[in-house]
Amino acid sequence: MSATTYEHLAKEGLLSLGHSTAAQLLDSTAQRAAAENWSYSHFLGMLLESELAARKRRIIETTLRFANLPYQKRLSDFDFSCQPSVDPVLVEELSTGRFLAEGRNIVLLGPPGVGKTHLAIGLAMITAELGHRVYFTSAMHLARKLSTAFAQNQLPHTMQVLAQPKLLVIDEVGYLALESNQAAMLFEVICNRYQKSASIIVTSNKAFGQWGQVFANDPVLASAALDRLLHHSTVLNIKGDSYRLREKRKAGLFQTQSQT
Ligand code: ADP
Ligand code: MG
Repeated sequence: MSATTYEHLAKEGLLSLGHSTAAQLLDSTAQRAAAENWSYSHFLGMLLESELAARKRRIIETTLRFANLPYQKRLSDFDFSCQPSVDPVLVEELSTGRFLAEGRNIVLLGPPGVGKTHLAIGLAMITAELGHRVYFTSAMHLARKLSTAFAQNQLPHTMQVLAQPKLLVIDEVGYLALESNQAAMLFEVICNRYQKSASIIVTSNKAFGQWGQVFANDPVLASAALDRLLHHSTVLNIKGDSYRLREKRKAGLFQTQSQT
């Protein structure tokens, strides 16, 4: 084959192997290689680096699409100065993703608006960026999903699906009370993941002492669930003001009682 045929094959070959980024960058990288006297392996390394980075970005995008996040927020957007009860060193440790390898759970407790969901989403995004699958749901959605699965005789399959992702986020546990069969199914989800050492992040406005109410007024079930959740866990007890109201107050749109 002639030199031009090989040059043509290089691009076509990369494309047919699915390396579209490398194919796109082939000419410009080859020109740089000639101009800067790169070795052949330097040239190949540069081309592969771009291809691998693009591939990683695509995997993260797909993972995030299936993660069901209500919106995207980063831990770096979290302003620690207005939430002194959140230890930045602890959040930094969580952001390494070590908790995933250890099967450690994270429980974020506190009143509305203090950043529980924000932190949970930030950690979910890091999980996706580390290349792991993550699924975000609210406790109410999860309860409905489980009830539907039960009614359609698909509970074992749904239980299996919920045990799969490296991280399951269950947001807003305790905002609405569960029915007793929903509480039992939520307990089963927690048990299944506990047995696999697969992490759960839970956010709740209820202190642990009130979890009996969350679990359909069944304190035995609640304490069995807490036992598994807290066995290997990091608990962040967030106190203080709602960030939303604080922002409104700053803008003069909301007056506290002490101001009136
Ligand atoms: P919660 O889940 O505790 O009710 P959210 O996480 O939904 O609270 O926070 C409410 C809104 O305020 C979100 O838009 C969130 O990004 C923002 N927010 C809360 N705390 C902070 C913070 N410390 N720094 C930056 N944004 C914050
Ligand atoms: Mg929330």
